Amino acid sequence: MDVFNLLPFFPTPYPDELLYSILARYHRLSQNSSIKQTMVDLFGTNNATAVIGFPNRLGRLVEQFPPGTGYTAFMLITNHSLLPLFSPFLPIARVEEVENAMISNHDGMGIAMKVGVMPNKIPMQNFLRYCPICLQQDEDHFGEMYWHRSHQIAGIHVCYKHNAYLIRAEQTELIGFNKQYFQMPADTFTRNIQLNDSLDLHFMLAKQAHWLVNNKIHSPGLDILYEKYVALLDKNGYLTVKGTVKANDLLNAFKCTYGEEFLSDMYSNLDFGSQDTWLHKLVRSPRRAQHPIRHLLLMHFLGITPEHFF
Ligand SMILES: [Zn+2]
Repeated sequence: MDVFNLLPFFPTPYPDELLYSILARYHRLSQNSSIKQTMVDLFGTNNATAVIGFPNRLGRLVEQFPPGTGYTAFMLITNHSLLPLFSPFLPIARVEEVENAMISNHDGMGIAMKVGVMPNKIPMQNFLRYCPICLQQDEDHFGEMYWHRSHQIAGIHVCYKHNAYLIRAEQTELIGFNKQYFQMPADTFTRNIQLNDSLDLHFMLAKQAHWLVNNKIHSPGLDILYEKYVALLDKNGYLTVKGTVKANDLLNAFKCTYGEEFLSDMYSNLDFGSQDTWLHKLVRSPRRAQHPIRHLLLMHFLGITPEHFF
């Protein structure tokens, strides 16, 4: 049964707030006695599921916003989903395809495939994480806690603002009942702050990923990305006179720069015996999109920040 009623209200989103979090606040403020009622309110059906990175059914959601809200599906995608992190590295036509899938009621798994997350071996986060310092500051400043989207990126382990290790809220894992539930951060969540004691790669990546997700970078297309990398490889001495990539030299230097443990933390190990690692693929004429974290690793290795790259 499809129920269509304008929502009585919709919470004003906070900075860097994940859509999941806004919907969790709606559920709490609505005082609905059941989550099923909230699902019907929001999506017109109780079959909708909770999604972290690439939410869908957004067209239907915004059609029900109360007059004067001014929010469009594109605004929700741009400001409150993880797609802006991935868009700069996708084929141009794919970005539009994914946006359309998020606006329609396309299934979540299919969207992840389109984004290219699935074949990359960098897992989709299936649970929510938080920074204990942000949690406290949000509570002090806004009077409530919320989920930040920059804390939900696979491969990012510290807060972009505080360099504190992100804490995994196990109870939010999207399995069983949680698949159709939106949870707020709870007062009982541990506030133990564990600072990352060196200003290292984790903090740099966290800040760069946060920059990407908040700066509406349009995809230049895979061919232009490739051309930019070739020019940087040349500048850094990784091209032969004939213009081919010195893959072994690159792989060796890359491993020396990052170390195996760090690459493993990034779900991006490199197998020395292979001529077909993700790094080989990244510096070859592109056939398919790669995970943004891997692009950030390559950019840093080649001595450029995303601000200067794009
Ligand atoms: Zn923080």
